[in-house]
Amino acid sequence: MTVTELVSYEDALATYDPVMGLEVHVELGTKTKMFCGCSTTLGADPNSQTCPTCLGMPGALPVVNAIGIESAIKIGLALNCEIAEWCRFARKNYFYPDMPKNFQTSQYDEPIAFNGYLDVSLEDGEVFRVQIERAHMEEDTGKSLHVGGATGRIHGASHSLLDYNRAGIPLIEIVTKPIEGAGERAPEVAKAYVAELRELIKALGVSEARMEMGQMRCDVNLSLRPYGREKFGTRSETKNVNSLRSVERAARFEIQRHAAVLNDGGAILQETRHFHEEDGSTTAGRIKDNAEDYRYFPEPDLVPIAPARAWVEELRAGLPELPSVQRKRLQADWGMTDHEMQSVLNAGAIPSILATIAAGAPSDQARKWWMGELARRANETGQELTALPITPAQVARVAALVAEGSLNDKLARQVIDAVLDGEGDPDEVVEKRGLAVVSDDGALGTAVDEAIAGNAAIADKIRDGKVAAAGALVGAVMKATRGQADAARVRELILERLAPKE
Ligand code: ADP
Ligand code: MG
Ligand code: ZN
Repeated sequence: MTVTELVSYEDALATYDPVMGLEVHVELGTKTKMFCGCSTTLGADPNSQTCPTCLGMPGALPVVNAIGIESAIKIGLALNCEIAEWCRFARKNYFYPDMPKNFQTSQYDEPIAFNGYLDVSLEDGEVFRVQIERAHMEEDTGKSLHVGGATGRIHGASHSLLDYNRAGIPLIEIVTKPIEGAGERAPEVAKAYVAELRELIKALGVSEARMEMGQMRCDVNLSLRPYGREKFGTRSETKNVNSLRSVERAARFEIQRHAAVLNDGGAILQETRHFHEEDGSTTAGRIKDNAEDYRYFPEPDLVPIAPARAWVEELRAGLPELPSVQRKRLQADWGMTDHEMQSVLNAGAIPSILATIAAGAPSDQARKWWMGELARRANETGQELTALPITPAQVARVAALVAEGSLNDKLARQVIDAVLDGEGDPDEVVEKRGLAVVSDDGALGTAVDEAIAGNAAIADKIRDGKVAAAGALVGAVMKATRGQADAARVRELILERLAPKE
């Protein structure tokens, strides 16, 4: 059935209790594929990174990628999972043109990591624990390109092209247990979970986890049940949602759609759904009943994986500082309140701030620029901070120019705006626009004399000993020099002229 009238979010939540399940696929950043030596570099010519194994040629034998296993264990450990003493790969059999073997090498009832949890911080600082069912290893499929139609979809296309460069790239699939009890915050929890997971994956160094590049994608399972009922409702599964914001919107839309269907006395179909970025809606994909049979069986061409306990413990001991721990440490180091830290987190500013500090800026300066001018610009343009066309090194350079007195804050803001507008590096902008602070006494002296001449009453006050009145004259000089005067030197020059020390 098609639903034209969604139920309002508030009304949906007044009647129904949402339950979610999140399945996140992460493409590992290994140099080679999961079961062959082919390169994983992005952007290569179609089908230039393939071999008999990842093309599924008869007789070709897979060999497992050790870094793939190591990365899976690291992810499992960071998610507080148990690591299997022994596990196997399994064949998941189905036909699809972008999967040349006609089965996907995956894991089924023997995942490498299971039974974990991840604590996620919501926007108001509340912490919600998401239970993890499993994290298992598998491989990516190739890509189809449908040609000749208006939409790029298979419908209306005259033919399709296949690129197998992605086939066999290692994936880790992380599946949550049903997430209950989030109530009206369910969409927010979904977004916060994926955000936290992304930070964790990046911190582990196993993937760049760039959602916009498809390196991390999320399937959002959602069902509703009347309050008080234990049994779950039927779920829908919105596939391949590829931004944090979309995860939240998809969950929200499905809550409103399910409620509309249920209120009408209808039944939710257990189906996959496609998410549409333009309006945040979902539309039906394929029906997916529980009888779906992939004829899983253990992969006969790969040996079982039995990670030695000593190795697992070595990996555990070598885990980097995890984002949640790092956040607590930074908050203490930077002397910030919970509220201040929360705004830094909500702005996604930590990586940029840390990179700016690493590029030589003092931490207060790094925080000031990213949370001030740059956060404002990112907000205006609806971009993430890291997507702004300015690098941490450039921000650090601006901070250095301020520290050495070549720029004041006002000029620094102009320089940053110009860098964002593509005018070049900070030094180039300063040079081209002639933005440096003027501290040369000759130029300043003239401006000071003019300010005194134009503000005789104030000048008299200073002569009478009211030194505080000098601020007004400094302001006049700054205005006349369009902010470029060295304010401290201007003040000295004014006092030298009007209130000379004996
Ligand atoms: P599939 O492979 O069919 O998608 P999985 O068990 O791998 O099934 O994943 C389903 C996800 O949905 C899991 O995160 C699970 O916890 C969750 N889930 C299962 N049943 C429901 C339900 N009725 N409502 C919401 N989420 C559910
Ligand atoms: Mg699924
Ligand atoms: Zn290959």
